[in-house]
Amino acid sequence: MKDENAAPNPLRRILVAALAGFALALAGCASTGSSTPAAAQAPKNIIILFADGAAPTQWEFGRYASEHLRKQSFAVTDVVFRKGVLGLLSTHSANSMVTDSAASATAMSTGFKTNNFMVGVTPEGRPLTTFYEAAKAAGKRLGLVTTAAIYDASPAAFSVHSANRGEFQRIVDQYFTLEPDVLLGGGAGYFLPAGSPGGKRKDGRDVIAAFAGKGYRVARNTVELNAAGSARLLGLFADGPMGYEIDSDPARTPSIADMTRAALRVLSRSGSNGFVLFAENENTDDAAHENDIAALMRALWAFDDAVNVALEFQQRNPDTLVIVTSDHETGGLSVTYALRNLNQQPRQTRIYAQPHLEAIGRITMSLGAVASKLGREPSPEALDALLLQHFPGFRLDDDLREHILKQRPLELNFTNNTQNALGRMIARQTGFYWGTAGHTSEPVAVGAIGPGAELFRGYQDNTDFGRHLHRLIQGK
Ligand SMILES: [Zn+2]
Repeated sequence: MKDENAAPNPLRRILVAALAGFALALAGCASTGSSTPAAAQAPKNIIILFADGAAPTQWEFGRYASEHLRKQSFAVTDVVFRKGVLGLLSTHSANSMVTDSAASATAMSTGFKTNNFMVGVTPEGRPLTTFYEAAKAAGKRLGLVTTAAIYDASPAAFSVHSANRGEFQRIVDQYFTLEPDVLLGGGAGYFLPAGSPGGKRKDGRDVIAAFAGKGYRVARNTVELNAAGSARLLGLFADGPMGYEIDSDPARTPSIADMTRAALRVLSRSGSNGFVLFAENENTDDAAHENDIAALMRALWAFDDAVNVALEFQQRNPDTLVIVTSDHETGGLSVTYALRNLNQQPRQTRIYAQPHLEAIGRITMSLGAVASKLGREPSPEALDALLLQHFPGFRLDDDLREHILKQRPLELNFTNNTQNALGRMIARQTGFYWGTAGHTSEPVAVGAIGPGAELFRGYQDNTDFGRHLHRLIQGK
């Protein structure tokens, strides 16, 4: 390592002058009442890109698969993590070492721990100030984007309150009161009265019509989203969650990049005092619950496209902070040399390699779609036909076939019988293994680039993340 004392005199003079200037700047901040230099760095806009269930193992898979299969760099790791500030967040909730999305997003939105399944409230049920409430009070525009139902735990915890994440109608009603400028995702069911197509509300209200009455433009497919212009926007693209990228029809269902682009158009229209945008891909979590590596790969790539949209926006609007993060790890994903019957395998098949990745790339259906096509009493013929058509080159071992046909879990913590057995089939032939169908306690990465990013450096807790957001929105 180079010793700075050995630098030639002119360089040392420059260093000394620079340090003195920095000290003066610090003193200047102190004299105006601000505690740190961060005040000068408060961003006008904050974009939080959130891949539910993604931890460093998932990011590495996204990066490697993108480079080797998609032939494209991965903006999450190659731009945000590499060129921005990188941190790790511990994720435990108030009552468990392993969090759910509600408790984790509450910590990240409010700066306080709560119990699993609770949204924007203390463990006793008292409401906490959410990031979106603070942002609205600071005069910011608000955008919520997700591939999940829009009332799902993460977007809900960034904005509203509920002692139980399952109170969907109540969460939608709070959105109606909060009036985010952009709401895009799935979940039309809890905006429409029971009895209407897809409707699930018990009070007979049509909340889509009520939003339209407040001046919101309504979009129900990709064409309507792209035509929506810059008016306040409610886009609902499915009755429930929007479904996996690997199964979706882009003409009908917009991608997370499409939704992020549309949200930025509305939020950045003239006269703006800045905005906060939370854009989530929930499919990274859902795919991991189902141990579906191919659907996870497509979800990570789709998420990365949205990160690129945000980074392009930041190029034109450098007063924007872009944050990429997550709430917890899902699935205990482990990419390993270990294949089954190691002693019987020729050496080259033990080692994870390009052919394994290419085999994953040839899969054309999510494991969830296979499960719903097969139903509760799968027939061997239907199973074989789907495997032949959508999983070329994969063979289903007899023990796994039994689990599917008899609908038995692999082990007790694997709750999606068909999906988890097929996930194990893929693992045995590629080395992409899953330890669970649930969440794990692995810390999550946070990458930040732009003004205020420095706050997120290093190993912190997810409540620190929430406190930083509140500090930035108050310009402190
Ligand atoms: Zn989950």
